[in-house]
Amino acid sequence: MDRNISRRDVIRVLGTSGLAAGMGAFLPSGESRADPASRKDAPPGVKVQGTAAPPAKLVGGKVIQPRRSLPLLAQTDVLVVGAGPAGVVAALAAKRTGADVTLVERYGHFGGQWTGGLVLVVAGMHDKTNKQVIQGVGEEILKRLEKLDRGIINRRPGVDPTVDAEAVKYVMVEMLQEADVRVFLHCWGVDAVMEGDAVRGAVFESKSGRQAILAKAVVDATGDGDVFAAAGADYEHIRFHVGLVCRIGNLDKVDEAKAKQSKRPPRRSIRRPPLRPIPSVRLPPPLPPAPFPPACIRFASPAPTAPRCSHPMPFR
Ligand SMILES: Cc1cc2nc3c(=O)[nH]c(=O)nc-3n(C[C@H](O)[C@H](O)[C@H](O)COP(=O)(O)OP(=O)(O)OC[C@H]3O[C@@H](n4cnc5c(N)ncnc54)[C@H](O)[C@@H]3O)c2cc1C
Repeated sequence: MDRNISRRDVIRVLGTSGLAAGMGAFLPSGESRADPASRKDAPPGVKVQGTAAPPAKLVGGKVIQPRRSLPLLAQTDVLVVGAGPAGVVAALAAKRTGADVTLVERYGHFGGQWTGGLVLVVAGMHDKTNKQVIQGVGEEILKRLEKLDRGIINRRPGVDPTVDAEAVKYVMVEMLQEADVRVFLHCWGVDAVMEGDAVRGAVFESKSGRQAILAKAVVDATGDGDVFAAAGADYEHIRFHVGLVCRIGNLDKVDEAKAKQSKRPPRRSIRRPPLRPIPSVRLPPPLPPAPFPPACIRFASPAPTAPRCSHPMPFR
């Protein structure tokens, strides 16, 4: 590695290339607890000094995390947590105002449910007269997809187009790189950093351990309200019925006219032998029903509903 490169330069290069999660490699030793990258960098046979950060301790059957200060991963004007469609667009929009922007995502790709969840239909961009009423950065993304082979299909007035998930990821990387947004992937936002009742940043977990990012403004784009819930804001949880999305390829399109003319082939009745339990196999007793909400999800209100801020967030 070129030793003349400053730490800031490295963060910038890694961030824009989507590799900044490995940035613990460039922190002085002892700044973070788990730092495998720095260990990989060490020449074979060289003993790597252990970190000064105290590990968690088991005391009287309880796991105690000793008090410690956290290494600062970055300081920025606008911190956006979560790089789904909302987070990516928020980061790009903030960058266009001239702000220094940092975007953090728990997974290794951009687009959230839109790409990783295969929610590919872009709904709700038209009004009842089929006039397109949604524009902005979202429309810029769709225009870029048009230039890619099968990046987007069914793009015509009044129709909800369908995108290709990988093409969306590609376009988002392209736009974030062009805008020079600092990006950290594989970093989970796990806590808010508070000063009084204002959110001043967030704490992240990654292969480099637990680190903090400070910001003048924090945008919670996690889709789950992770940051504002951690900051202590009240919220409500609502039920939302969703479908399970899948993609099917290599099928011929049905010619409806021909299909109506053709006679259905007679159904063959299939005789299956009745299912009998195998005598030698003993099934375990059925599991008790899973609790809802799952024990690992913390709700501030007793009613389980999707996070919805019920009073202004304490962000400045
Ligand atoms: C099954 C299903 C079908 C849907 N169908 C459609 C449809 O057909 N058309 C349509 O327009 N919309 C549809 N939607 C809604 C659509 O997915 C959402 O409107 C859109 O994804 C919301 O974008 P978002 O950026 O707010 O959240 P998300 O897409 O959920 O993105 C949140 C991002 O934050 C990251 N993140 C979460 N927590 C953390 C954390 N603690 N730290 C760091 N990163 C974190 C996630 O990994 C993710 O990348 C559907 C949703 C579902 C679930």
